[in-house]
Amino acid sequence: MAYTINDDCIMCGACEGECPVSCISEGDGKYVIDADACIDCGSCAGVCPVDAPQA
Ligand code: SF4
Ligand code: SF4
Repeated sequence: MAYTINDDCIMCGACEGECPVSCISEGDGKYVIDADACIDCGSCAGVCPVDAPQA
């Protein structure tokens, strides 16, 4: 089960550089996670200021 980024994302970009498999990218209005690549590490959730990445 991959993490997903909800609509609370403020597009700060902090999570993108933290992902060990580089599966986070800038999407339309929020950042998005490639579910096929996500390894469920939780690093993105750890750095997000608004708790947008959800398991
Ligand atoms: Fe990347 Fe880990 Fe977040 Fe998945 S849970 S998107 S692997 S930082
Ligand atoms: Fe969006 Fe949180 Fe990632 Fe910032 S750290 S781009 S608010 S999901």
